Amino acid sequence: AALYKIDGWGAPYFTINGAGNISVRPFGSATLPHQEIDLLKVVKKASVPKSAGGLGLQLPIIVRLPDVLKNRLESLHSAFHFAIQSNGYDSHYQGVYPVKCNQDRYIVEDIVEFGSPFRFGLEAGSKPELLLAMSCLTRGSPDAFLICNGYKDEEYISLALMARSLDLNTVIVLEQEEELDTVVETSRKLGIRPVIGLRAKLRTKHSGHFGSTSGEKGKFGLTTTQILSVARKLQRLEMLECLQLLHFHIGSQIPSTVLLADGVGEAAQIYCELARLGAGMRVIDIGGGLGIDYDGSHSSGSDVSVSYGLDEYASAVVRAIQFACDRKHVRHPIICSESGRALVSHHSVLVFEAVSSTVVEPESVGQNLAYLLDALEDESRAEYRNLMAAAVRGEYDSCLVYSDQLKKQCVEQFKDGILGLEHLAAVDALCDLVARETCATSRLHTYHVNLSIFTSIPDFWAIGQLFPIVPIHHLDRRPTVNGVLSDLTCDSDGKLDRFIGGRGSLPLHEISCGLEVGGYYLGMFLGGAYQEALGGLHNLFGGPSVVRVAHSEGPHGFAVTRAMAGPSCADVLRVMQHEPELMFEALKHRIEEHGRGDDGGDITGGLSRAFHSMPYLVYSSGDESMAAEPDE
Ligand code: PLP
Repeated sequence: AALYKIDGWGAPYFTINGAGNISVRPFGSATLPHQEIDLLKVVKKASVPKSAGGLGLQLPIIVRLPDVLKNRLESLHSAFHFAIQSNGYDSHYQGVYPVKCNQDRYIVEDIVEFGSPFRFGLEAGSKPELLLAMSCLTRGSPDAFLICNGYKDEEYISLALMARSLDLNTVIVLEQEEELDTVVETSRKLGIRPVIGLRAKLRTKHSGHFGSTSGEKGKFGLTTTQILSVARKLQRLEMLECLQLLHFHIGSQIPSTVLLADGVGEAAQIYCELARLGAGMRVIDIGGGLGIDYDGSHSSGSDVSVSYGLDEYASAVVRAIQFACDRKHVRHPIICSESGRALVSHHSVLVFEAVSSTVVEPESVGQNLAYLLDALEDESRAEYRNLMAAAVRGEYDSCLVYSDQLKKQCVEQFKDGILGLEHLAAVDALCDLVARETCATSRLHTYHVNLSIFTSIPDFWAIGQLFPIVPIHHLDRRPTVNGVLSDLTCDSDGKLDRFIGGRGSLPLHEISCGLEVGGYYLGMFLGGAYQEALGGLHNLFGGPSVVRVAHSEGPHGFAVTRAMAGPSCADVLRVMQHEPELMFEALKHRIEEHGRGDDGGDITGGLSRAFHSMPYLVYSSGDESMAAEPDE
């Protein structure tokens, strides 16, 4: 556990069990030992063919754990409830889930259901998000907020007003001053009185990557002048009581409660000023930003960790608002937060296979070396002698310089036709050997993983975001090699070569030593927010299969409540406007014209299977131990 820092980022949901597998604790710290779920058993159940008692899903697989989601929601609510009670704060907390973090239907439906006792609502940032939030909230608490953020046109605003007329507790949050005119005109046209919020551009600036849109020069929100102008316009229109909510968002992954309290304090002052000007203020919406400790270091110095927990976060928010309001004798507002990352990250685990590994073997150096030396020109031979002399003296930096120069010269000579392929192979092997012997990181093994980083971990590629990645089994054995993970795409960026804890490689078990090829499973944890919505279709690798797994009292501790195969080749082709049915017909026609008689049926069947299968590699998960547990 220490090697992968699991106790840091995994607590209280992930641990290692006696079998050396990752174990999920569905109810967090309240989980009893017999309630733990062995992740490997879930993967077996999901991936083993139906004929062997499994669900026949192809990897990669997202394992979703609604119990964990429920626990996160309850923990967030109780952190605020506790801070409110213990500080004598005179209103309540009522959060919303920003659906952009993961719009998956079942996640949003779960949040609405689990959050109903707490009046938990939804936040939307576009028209389709608003449509899904409207329909999901018909089953939520009648008081739950429907917060409408993002840039808006008349159509968006009409939709939000219709939601209001359907008795959904909808607030239109002005992202730009110009939106006010459209809100006023559209509400008159439809005869529906709006509830308006506004997003303030705070001076408080979050310095990490996710804070680039905060501060005075930030992309979103209204400046002080614009806020005043909106308030005055609403007053002239006798609609000032419609302005009821103040919103701000200083960025995701707020690193410390010091910065948080600073931002919330500034916003609370604006809130109090709007109340003083006569607006019908009721709610302060502190946006998202509640962070996740991806590397388990509990520190505020990077984008992958935060130095606080839920309780400290809630307490800092409540105190900052209370302090400002008490000084200005303003009634305590309802506190709303739009925490996304903190809510959904933990409950999804992406499981994928490492299918092979490669490392350059030192033996390959010898064969062609003598042959190379004979062919070298004088200058290159001198470089080789310098390299050997530096190696004898133990001057490793010089070795790297000489080997680099030797390689450059040899490549030039190859281009000029002086050296042959064997010479070039010999110099490559020699330089690899030098690199390996002089620098620990070059002992790296490259593990080929059945995954697309662009589809499933896009933030790693796009913004360098790190997630904990750990083998989900064999954790009772010490890993013996260091590896980087290379994905299936034909793209040099499709590689995971930075890991939590500042590591350039991951401690891994050797696939060739007793592990079945295609049977080494890795999990990417804490990726439930943003990755699925941001993922692309590079090389037409679509999304993973998904299983939803709930705690159950049976012998295995879990039940699969939903299983969905990932998109097929036909599905991903359709996204790019190809028409798989027509493609299939054209190819069938070709078989009739060009096929060699007997095998026509085989080819037709093979083509049909190809269209219907997932784009990922298929491995038969071989050995006996992969048989699924019988159904409960
Ligand atoms: N609210 C707004 C306006 C956002 O832009 C975001 C995301 O950046 C969120 C909420 C969710 O933030 P987080 O996932 O950090 O909680």
